[in-house]
Formats: sequence, structure tokens, C-alpha cells
Amino acid sequence: MKNFKYIPAESLEKASQKKDDSVLMAGGTDLLGMIKDDLLTPETVINLKSLKELKNIRYNAGKGLEIGALATITELAENSDVQKRFPVLVQTCKEIASPQLRNVGTVGGNLCQRPRCWYYRGEFNCLRKGGDTCFAVDGENKFHCVVGGGPCYIVHPSDLAVSLLALDASLEIFSNGKLKTVPIDDFFILPEQNETKENILEPGEIVTKIIVPEIPAGSKCAFIKFKERASWDFAVVSLGILLNTNGSTIKNGRIVFGGVAPRPWIDTALNTKLTGAATDEKNLKSLADSALLEAEPMSKNDYKIILVRNLLKQALIDLSKN
Ligand SMILES: Cc1cc2nc3c(=O)[nH]c(=O)nc-3n(C[C@H](O)[C@H](O)[C@H](O)COP(=O)(O)OP(=O)(O)OC[C@H]3O[C@@H](n4cnc5c(N)ncnc54)[C@H](O)[C@@H]3O)c2cc1C
Ligand code: SF4
Repeated sequence: MKNFKYIPAESLEKASQKKDDSVLMAGGTDLLGMIKDDLLTPETVINLKSLKELKNIRYNAGKGLEIGALATITELAENSDVQKRFPVLVQTCKEIASPQLRNVGTVGGNLCQRPRCWYYRGEFNCLRKGGDTCFAVDGENKFHCVVGGGPCYIVHPSDLAVSLLALDASLEIFSNGKLKTVPIDDFFILPEQNETKENILEPGEIVTKIIVPEIPAGSKCAFIKFKERASWDFAVVSLGILLNTNGSTIKNGRIVFGGVAPRPWIDTALNTKLTGAATDEKNLKSLADSALLEAEPMSKNDYKIILVRNLLKQALIDLSKN
């Protein structure tokens, strides 16, 4: 590992004026691993954790929840307002990594973490590292994407991204000396837009806050994750869902899939079918079977499509019960 200078951020302004050979660190659970593996060789690491104002979690009745980007995943899960009003976020946090990683890893870092593709994390100079080959195409692609891929086929690793998109959250970003707010749907990008990054952040831009609107009255939410290892693991596939039914019909809802695409994935055709759909079991099963019709699986990952449809079937049936 190359030596680097370590400096605590003095202010958002100063941290955002970082040079090209500096990196921003939150909890460091992903970043330091990448430095140790020589995937990053910065001259300077700027620690954002000294910006205490970015740690607050605040609930305002009628407005929703504001989560400071530097709040840890444990702090989010243990917040009493979050437990009472956004239990789906607690459910999601508990599915992330291990308790030790949740105690240190931050919400902002979770959304900005880099992909886990084993070629990217290994000694392969693939497209995402600026090379000219995606080794997953003809290689081991069991955990890669089935939709939204090309020329790179990662899946986005963040569990919170899936739930926060189902809840229609926005991100506040410090950019060029000002704050701007971006819907989380516009934050994540596909490789066809840029295969070397996973979101819209430009150098020096810092996520400061995540804003989650109130969950509409009568809606139910869930996060379901399928892992290969029961103890802790990244999602093979996952699902974030918000559903509002009146007993026999779905009034409205939003379904987001994780583990299937290079970003948290909204299957637009599927989501369009939700409003007005009958909630009898036969119809919900056929709705679930219409998920990911546009998928183009790779040689070893078509099992993900069946898995997603089965998770969705169960979620739709469970959330439609009174
Ligand atoms: C073994 C292991 C298992 C894991 N399992 C899961 C899992 O099951 N589900 C899951 O969702 N995650 C999982 N993770 C990811 C873990 O949750 C993340 O490592 C963590 O959330 C990253 O947070 P951090 O604060 O440590 O980020 P850091 O490591 O400090 O930063 C990660 C990246 O985000 C950037 N960054 C951080 N904060 C900001 C900000 N505010 N603005 C702009 N850029 C920023 C950094 O520059 C860096 O590029 C796992 C990680 C490990 C190591
Ligand atoms: S899927 Fe993306 S990160 Fe993985 S080898 Fe291909 S280009 Fe690299």
C-alpha cells in the first residue's frame, strides 16, 4: 500500500476543493480496502467525519426524514423516529454487512460505495478501471447484472439505495460552493452513460443529506434480500416495495430491484401495471411473472430472473393482506 497524507476535513468548502490525487473518506470501510488493494493510490485522504453537522438524523412531521450523509448505518437503524415511521429502513440496515461494518459505515458511503465485481476488485484492468475489456462477458458472471448492462455488467452493491428509491428519496449535494437537491433516481447512472463511475458525482461534490418524504398514509413497505450466505453478504437479488391497496385493488405503489442492474432498478413496464391491479393471488402472481421481461441474462445468471419474480410474488401477496 502506498503511503498517503491523512487530513480531517475542516469544512465542506475546503473538502470539496480537493485535488485530483485526493480522495474523500467517510467510514472508510470500502475506501480503505480499495487503497490496501492498490485499486486507489491517493496522495491525500480527506476524512469527512470531522464534519459533525453531517451526522444528524432529523424527523419533521409532514416533511419527512433528513439523514445526514455521515450518520452511520447503526445510527439510522437505532433512531426512534426511523423505527416508528420508516421501519423499512431499519429492516434494510439490518441486512447490510455485519454489525461492526454498520457501526462504522455511513449512509452516504453506502450509496457511494464502489462495485464488488471480482474482476474490478482483482488484478484485471477492465473497462471500469480504464481498460478496454469487460472480463465478465466471457468469464464468471454469476453475480453480474441481467438488465441495464453494457459495456460493463456490474450490479450496484447498496441495499439502502434500493429502499430509498422505493421511498422516492432525494439527495442533497454540495457542489461548487452551493447545495443542490437531486432525486435519488437521477443520482445513479448506467455504464452506457459512463462505465467508470456509478453516480453523477463530479470530483469535489459531496453528498450531505438524504431526504425521505413521509410514507403516504395507508402504504406498506418492505425490503427483501436474497443472499448466498445466510449470515451476511451482498444481495444476490433484492427488492424494495411500497404498496397502497384498498383491499381488492392496488391504488398505487413502487417496486425497485437490487442485484439485477448496475443501478437500483425500476422496471417501468411493471410499475405501470400496479395502479388498479386486482390483489387476488392469481393476479399478483401473474404481475410478478411479468417482472424483468426486458432482461438479457449473461451465460451464468438467468437464475436471478426467477429469484426476483418469486421474491416479488411473496412481497405482493404479503403486503396486500389487511
Ligand atoms: C465485507 C463487506 C460487506 C458488505 N456488505 C454490504 C451489504 O450487504 N449491503 C450493502 O449495502 N453494503 C455492504 N457493504 C458496504 C458497506 O455498507 C459500505 O462499505 C459502507 O456503507 C461504506 O460506507 P463508508 O462510510 O465506510 O464509506 P467509505 O468507505 O468511506 O467511502 C466509500 C466511497 O464513497 C465515497 N463517499 C463516502 N461518503 C461520501 C459523501 N458523503 N459524499 C461523496 N462521496 C462519499 C468515498 O469517497 C468512497 O469512494 C459491505 C462492505 C464490506 C467491506
Ligand atoms: S463488469 Fe464492469 S467492473 Fe466487472 S469486469 Fe466488466 S467492466 Fe469490469
